[in-house]
This record gives sequence, C-alpha cells and structure tokens, in this order.
Amino acid sequence: MQPKRIEHHYHFCPQCGVKNNCPTEGPFRCKPCGFTQFFGPVAAVGALIRNERDELLLVRRARNPGKGRWGLPGGFIDRGESVETAMRREVREETQLEICDACYLTSFPNDYNYHGIVSPVVDLFYTARVIDPATIVLAKDELDLHIWVRPNAEQLEQMAFPSNRFAVEHWLNG
Ligand SMILES: [Zn+2]
Repeated sequence: MQPKRIEHHYHFCPQCGVKNNCPTEGPFRCKPCGFTQFFGPVAAVGALIRNERDELLLVRRARNPGKGRWGLPGGFIDRGESVETAMRREVREETQLEICDACYLTSFPNDYNYHGIVSPVVDLFYTARVIDPATIVLAKDELDLHIWVRPNAEQLEQMAFPSNRFAVEHWLNG
C-alpha cells in the first residue's frame, strides 16, 4: 500500500457516519454534524546520553524500521506523562540505564509510517548523563548492540532516522 497521511483514511465521519468523498490534508471536519478531528503532531523523545568521556550512547536496532542501523534510546510520550518522565522510562525499558541532568537540546519534525498510515510526529531531544554505564542491558527484541562514541561520518551515515542524525550533528557542532 502506498503510504498516505492519516487524514486521507477518513472516508467516513467517525461520529455520524456520513461519507467523506474527498479526504484532504489537515484536520477532518464533518459539515453535517460538526465533528472535528485534529491529527497531531504527537510527541516523541530521544536521549543523547553522555558518559564521563563525553561519548554518546548509540544503540543498533534489531528490527524494522531501520533494522541494523544506529539510533538513540527513546520513543513516544504516553498520555499524562512529562517528556522527562517518558525519556527516563524509555531509556530504562530499552537499556536499563538510569540517567540524570536532563537538558533540552533541540527538536525535529518527523513522520511515523505505521503499516502505510503516516502520522506527524515532533521529536524532542535531550542530553543526559548516565549514572553507571556498566549497568546497561539492552532489550534484546528491540536492540542488538551498543557503542559509546563520538560519532564519525560513517556512523552518522548509518543512523536509522534523519531526526536522530540531525540531533547528534547538532550536539557534535554545539
Ligand atoms: Zn459527522
């Protein structure tokens, strides 16, 4: 299936069921009943975790999207959760590491393609310091390798997502 933005899948109004003959870009608005649906972006967080040598933690993805390529620990922010709490939770789930000194770095717009349905995302990136790098245990179904590194051109080229690469380059050039 050709990837399509989520609003292009709204062929009927979810409230009154009237047919939507022409799904368009942007919010869904049903003229007959007034139902309106906004489509994000939803928020995600990525962690640039530093060790005492000022190296970054890169993790290699064990599954698609981006299988075999490098990424940053992180993920979607749950409803009712702060960005900082989501970051600590995602880092813990993926690596079992504890982090401190979280500091906002930058953001980058992104698209999330889930089975051909594309939703807008905004990725928020934070730097943080690892408390004890020796405690790392990767979530094996998601990640299969980690490195602590000042990423070089080859590693940047091997990153899974443009937004992650943008954040790492931003940090390297900061
Ligand atoms: Zn309606």
